[in-house]
Amino acid sequence: MTTAQRESAATRPLDGTGLAREICAEATTTAAELSSAGITPQLAVVVATDDESSSWYVRSIAKTAARAGISCSVVDLGAECAPALIRAALESLSADESVHGIILQTPLPAGVRFEEQASAIAPAKDVDGANPLSLGRLTAGSPAFAPATATAVLELLDHHEVALAGRRCVVVGRSNVVGKPAAALLLQRDATVTICHRHTEDLARFTTAADVVVVAVGRPGLIGAEHVRDRAIVIDVGTNPTPEGGLVGDVDEAAVSGRVAGLSPVPGGVGPVTTALLLRNTVQAAASSARRTT
Ligand code: NAP
Repeated sequence: MTTAQRESAATRPLDGTGLAREICAEATTTAAELSSAGITPQLAVVVATDDESSSWYVRSIAKTAARAGISCSVVDLGAECAPALIRAALESLSADESVHGIILQTPLPAGVRFEEQASAIAPAKDVDGANPLSLGRLTAGSPAFAPATATAVLELLDHHEVALAGRRCVVVGRSNVVGKPAAALLLQRDATVTICHRHTEDLARFTTAADVVVVAVGRPGLIGAEHVRDRAIVIDVGTNPTPEGGLVGDVDEAAVSGRVAGLSPVPGGVGPVTTALLLRNTVQAAASSARRTT
């Protein structure tokens, strides 16, 4: 094999850390401008779980926010709290003028429906696109905050110059927070989009026909060499904790390496871009709120 052939057969890691740094730097600049006008952007995270990986994620958002000059308050309601309490907290934060962005952290206590609670988040502060109204507006092509993870998929594809118009894209997973909004965003970019889920028969038949595969399921090793075509682009959204305390995605990286043209790593792909986008959305929400009140 010649060097040129080897290079063209290599799988490019679609890294998200550099892009996340760029987005955070922009958010930091906007936060500083707002701060000199007397406004401190504030993000509130509502937590109703004692799940360890969730606490880790919230701590990481708070740390990144602090570095960007964004205040981050955590409203911890405890894992046993009643649904009415979650809703009341979201309504109160929605009415609080000092709060610009609101996130409802998952998981929620057993039996509590995420969408029902998230509908209490004011759309102007819905920086993670959790309110079903935001998903409806996104699908209709109206202005709305899209879920940060779904937006991160598109930002990562753009950053790595992956063309989308006219390309065949398959999204595996149809949750309201990742799969459906990612599909809506790809459709807005003129991709031809197919959504697969638990009931899809012969998943490989769909994924091997795709130029771009976005996987958001939560099952390590779901996507192997038999699921991808040569030189496809694969975005791995899955985050699955390993017994050793690490994190792996849904794609069997070793199996697809060398076959696909690009694969986003886990960790270091979609994850850091998602956090950066939450901050960008929060400063945007703060700037819009400042414009409305002047
Ligand atoms: P979810 O709500 O559990 O949805 C999972 C989706 O996968 C469902 O639509 C389900 O189909 C589908 N599915 C399950 N088994 C399947 C199979 N064998 N074949 C095809 N589809 C299958 O999860 P989520 O919230 O969307 O999250 C998905 C993954 O992304 C998780 O690993 C999560 O941790 C990760 N995530 C990462 C970030 C980040 O920032 N990196 C953010 C959010 C989520 P049905 O609808 O038919 O049940």
